[in-house]
Parts: sequence; structure tokens; C-alpha cells
Amino acid sequence: MKKLLGLLVLSLSLAACTKSEKEIVYKNPPADALESFSAATCTKKNCIKIEKASLNKTFMLLVSGKSNSGAPQWLDANPAVVVFQKSGGQVGLFSVSVDAIYGADDAKELIQSFDVLDEDATSVTFDWGSGLNTLRNDESMQIEAELDPAAPKRTSVSILSSFVQKVNVTSEYIEVVQVAKVQQSAINTRKENPFDEEDKGKPNFDVTESTLNLNVQLLPYKLDPGFQAKESDASKTVGFFIAPVAKEHLGDEKKFLITKWDISPGKEPVRVFVSANTPAEYLDAVKDGILYWNKVLGFEGLKVELGGDDRTVPPVHSIMVRWIPWDDAGFAYAMGQADPLTGKFIRAQVFMTSAFAMTKGRGKRMTPVLNPMAACDFSKAFTAMEDLRPDNPVDVRIANDMLRSVVAHEIGHVMGLRHNFAGSASTSLTGLDVLGLVKNYLLDAAHAGALTATTVMDYITGQEEVLLGSYIRNNPLPYDQTALQWAYSTDDKILETSTAKYCSDEDLIISGSRDKVVIYDCQQFDATGGPFAALLNTHLRLRNTILSRKLDDVLAKVFPAETPGFINSLDRVLNENHGVLSLDGLKTQIGYYKKKDGVVSLDKWRNDIQRGFKTDSDPVLDLNLKADLEQVGGMNGVKQYLTPAAGWTDADLQKVLTAINTGKGVIKGRAYVLAPEQKARLIQYFTDEAQYLQTQLQKELDELFQGL
Ligand SMILES: [Zn+2]
Repeated sequence: MKKLLGLLVLSLSLAACTKSEKEIVYKNPPADALESFSAATCTKKNCIKIEKASLNKTFMLLVSGKSNSGAPQWLDANPAVVVFQKSGGQVGLFSVSVDAIYGADDAKELIQSFDVLDEDATSVTFDWGSGLNTLRNDESMQIEAELDPAAPKRTSVSILSSFVQKVNVTSEYIEVVQVAKVQQSAINTRKENPFDEEDKGKPNFDVTESTLNLNVQLLPYKLDPGFQAKESDASKTVGFFIAPVAKEHLGDEKKFLITKWDISPGKEPVRVFVSANTPAEYLDAVKDGILYWNKVLGFEGLKVELGGDDRTVPPVHSIMVRWIPWDDAGFAYAMGQADPLTGKFIRAQVFMTSAFAMTKGRGKRMTPVLNPMAACDFSKAFTAMEDLRPDNPVDVRIANDMLRSVVAHEIGHVMGLRHNFAGSASTSLTGLDVLGLVKNYLLDAAHAGALTATTVMDYITGQEEVLLGSYIRNNPLPYDQTALQWAYSTDDKILETSTAKYCSDEDLIISGSRDKVVIYDCQQFDATGGPFAALLNTHLRLRNTILSRKLDDVLAKVFPAETPGFINSLDRVLNENHGVLSLDGLKTQIGYYKKKDGVVSLDKWRNDIQRGFKTDSDPVLDLNLKADLEQVGGMNGVKQYLTPAAGWTDADLQKVLTAINTGKGVIKGRAYVLAPEQKARLIQYFTDEAQYLQTQLQKELDELFQGL
């Protein structure tokens, strides 16, 4: 839950050959290109004056939008290489099209035409009017895989109405700031009855409207011969976002250039602005997360600048890290704009929501209970959960380590890297190691963390995230190093020695939806070092408090906080309602041993799907399953961990009965008092429930181990 890519983005994308010397792409602007432009003064018009010498010369068009409702979201367009042309009473703005590689001079795509207002021997003045009147909404960070060939390409939104706030001509760019009312249409499937599973729904044409603050910039564009474009890795050892570029003489075929910065040694580092509203207590963690990538690169590729002005778009060759005060967002996201001809990043943005700093009570919830990891009771160090802001040293440390890791992940995206969900399965730690490390981490303020994933680009669980967040203060991760060393060198041999595996979103989508299989070593939020220890730990932790949690649940339903005057019937709430034993994950895992249906190793997946090299056996999966099981003492060990001591509900039941007899308290902010008959009913229910759960657990465990 870290990013939202593919929001409304507009794109005027094009693809053309980088090697060809076709004049359309290489009609370089004059040295004084921007001096040849001016925002001319004319009454009642938005004028731009262009020297005739700048017509038919290439410019980069950069468009960013900021939504104007709710929590603002920035929307970055795919950049485009454009030219101005004049004919008669019009100036046309064209993007250089795919077909330009065939050398046809008119092979350009019209973006928009503008009326000429005035003309002399050397210049043309035209009316920018109300600015751009359409936006393309293609993805700005693209991938090689085409998941839905039927999906429409080059979709567009209309600008219904527009208000040009200003036109600037600076020494670096022409800038138009425009408020735009945009209209989007989409065909959605609507059911007559939304709850009817039989109803497949009918297509409905929906039109929606919103307002965007658009920033449109035009920069003189000249292909930089010093930049080393790089084709993406066909072996799928590392994964980058790409710019699809037409292959010379091959019609529609594309080659994929990775997105990367021009930071080879000797070049200026990328400026990374940290927005001025970033809380002071988290600045160091945010900075660390950014500068982690210098450790990975082995040179200064990024340079942090604090107090960034977050009202504007980031300048060229920079990244803006924006702090979004949104405590319950649960995600962060990133977007970058790259040269469509080379993949060279021009500018990028990272959006950090404050949610990742909301860690109150986390330390307590992370404490492992699985033997031999003795339970450490931190409960005395924690106060009531009034809000989510950390207020004790452990939770503050967790907040900082988590932020460092999430910032590093988001910056990783704008370094061009895609997700790698095999990261947590590529380490040498065992699940038991991780539980031990978590325990030590919670006790030791100077804990160095641990390599719980080979990359910051995986999605990992909270406890592993903080261990990793602490570890990356001093250590680059192996996959990240392989990927960036490869990206910034001409040597592909780096990939041959890589031990870290790679798999990404489309692997999960295709395996899960089409083939209905789980890739064992490519999962989101899977436990580092094998699933058993984590699954056992979770089950045991939840089992110890199953009755207490049930009582809280029942009380919250009988005395709902959202309707303070209302008291629900206790009988209605208790009827046929039992505590949950949380054995689902273990059932799935043990199912893989009973029958290897629905699970494959990443190796087999790559062979079968990517290389079309089908095999029946899956030796890597066999090895993984065996190793994971051996860690917890084989199936006998699992049985031992899971087999409860007689009367395992007693301690919890005692707590619950005490609470019921006390008869009053606060549940989710609402004070409650139990009537004598409610007390009696609850005592009876929980006494029975303890008995029921003991019987039920035994029954489920018998089923689980049947045939093993
Ligand atoms: Zn991500």
C-alpha cells in the first residue's frame, strides 16, 4: 500500500528513433531560443510572440496538474517533444509522431492550433487563448507488459473551460499557468441491484467533471549525446519503468528504454527538495531515505535541499518530496516525467503521507510471542490509544525507521525502479531469526536493523519494514545495488552474478487472475525467511487474547459509539457468534504440503510463462517448502507449537470474567454500564465460549494434520 500510480495523467507521448538523424527530431532550437519568445502585451488576449527562427525547432512540453478538490493530488503528464509551425493565420503546436522515423515531414500529431494576431519579418504573435483544450491521460510511468491489449490507448480528457492565470517567459522555459475544468467520460458497468451476484450489469456512459491547476512548460529541446540510454533487461533480473521507443524500420515494434537520471560521474547530482512542511522530528529519516540511494549508487547522485517550495512544480533535474498531512491515507506515491526519446528523467515528485508516522501502539503489537522467543510485555510503556501519534521512544523509533524505508521505496520509483515482490524471499534470514530480531529491536534503541529484504522495492510487513528501515541507514541492499549498477554502466555481466530475485506487479496479476496460482517466493507482505514462524506467531498471539478481544467486540456492538443513546440486544449480538481462531494462513501453507496445487516457484513461473519452457516438476518449490518446514522442526514441530496446553483459555477467561464483574468501563470512547442480567448472560456466554473454542481448536487442528 505504498503508491498510487496511474492517476489522471495527461500525455502527449511520442516515440521516435534515438539513433536516426532524422531532421524532425533533431531540428535543434537556436541558442537564444527563449529570448526569441516573449509574452507579448496585447489587450484582451493571452499573447505569445515567437521569432520565426524558432518555428519548426524542437521543444519539450512538460505538463503537470494539481487537483482542486479534497486532498490535492498532483498529476504529471508524459512529456512530449513538440514543434511550432505556422501556416496562414494559424500557429500549430505539434508533437513529433511515431511515424517521424520514416522521415515524413508531416508525420506529426496536432496538439492544438492558435490564431495569429500579428506578424512581421522576423516574428509571429499568436493568441494562446485559454491554453490547452485537451489532455492525454496515459500512464506517465510505463511498463513493458501489456496486460489488456483491448484497453484503449491514448485516451483523452476534454477541457471544458479554462482560465489562464499567467504566461511567464524565463531564461529556462516558457510557462503557462492555467486553471482548467476537465471532463472525463468512461463506460462503467452498473448493476440494477448492486448486491445481486447474478446481475452482470449493463454498460453505462458516465461523464465526470473536475478542476485542475495546470502548469504547462516549454523548454528548448536538444538530444543530449552524453546521456547513455539503456534498453530494459529482457532476462527480468531487474525491473525498471520504461519509455517505449519505436524501432527503426520495424513498424509498430518498440524497444524499451529504462527511465534513469543523467547522473553518471562528472554530472550534476539530482536536487531533491524536501517540502518545508515536513515535520522537524522526521526530517532526518526522510533525508536518510533519499540519501540511501547514494550508498546504492556508490557516488553522489542525489543532493538534498531542505525547505522546498511545494507550491510549484519541481525544476528540471530535480525531485520534489512533498509531505501530505493525511494520517489515515495508508499509501504514498511517486511519479516521474522522462524524455520520451531516451528515458532520461526530467523531473519527479514523491508524495509522503503522514500515515507512515502514525505508529502509536505498534511496538506492543509487534512483540513476538512464539517460543523460544519469550514474550516481552511492553504494555506498561503504552498509554491508551487516543490518537495514532507515537508518544513513547519505541514507537517514535518505529515511526522513523518506517518513514526511512517508505521514503527510500518511493525515491526508488523515481530512480526508475519497479516493485520487486521477491525481495523478502531472497534473504538468508529464517522466520525465527526475524522474530528474534524484532524482540531485540524493541528492547535495544541502538539496534542496527536487519536485511529483511534484498530491496526497498518490496511490500513487507510492518515489523520487517522497521528492521529494514533501520538497516538501510548504513547498508545498501543487494538487489538495489545490482539494479542501479547495471542501469548506470554498460556492463550487463552484473546481472549474471545477481543472487537477488525479481518479480513485479504483472507477475502477481497474471498468476493470480489468469492461472490461479500463487508464486511462492513472489508475494506482497509475505514473511521474510519463510511463512511458518510468522503464521505460528500470529496465531499464538491472537489465541492468547481471543476471549478478551471477543468481549471488546461484543461490548462495542451492544454499546455502539456512533449512536450513543442506543443499546443493542445482547442476545441478538451473541447468537451463533464465535471467536476467530486465525488458522487460515496456516491452513493454506500446510495445504501446499498435502497437495502442491495452486503454488509454483518463481523459477518455474519464469520458465513456464516467460520462456515458454514448461516442466512438470518444480524442484525449487520443493526445496523452499522443505527448508521452511525444517526451520520450525518439521510437521512435528508445527504440531507441537500449535497443540495447546490443557485449559489454554483459562487465563484469558479469568480476565474477561473480571471485566464483566466490574461491569463498567469505556469501549471505543463510549462509557458503558452492564445491568445484572447482562452480566449474568455474558458470564454464561464466555464460560461456554471458552469451552467451545477449546473443542473447536482441537477439531480444526485434527483436520489440519490429517494424513500428515
Ligand atoms: Zn511502490
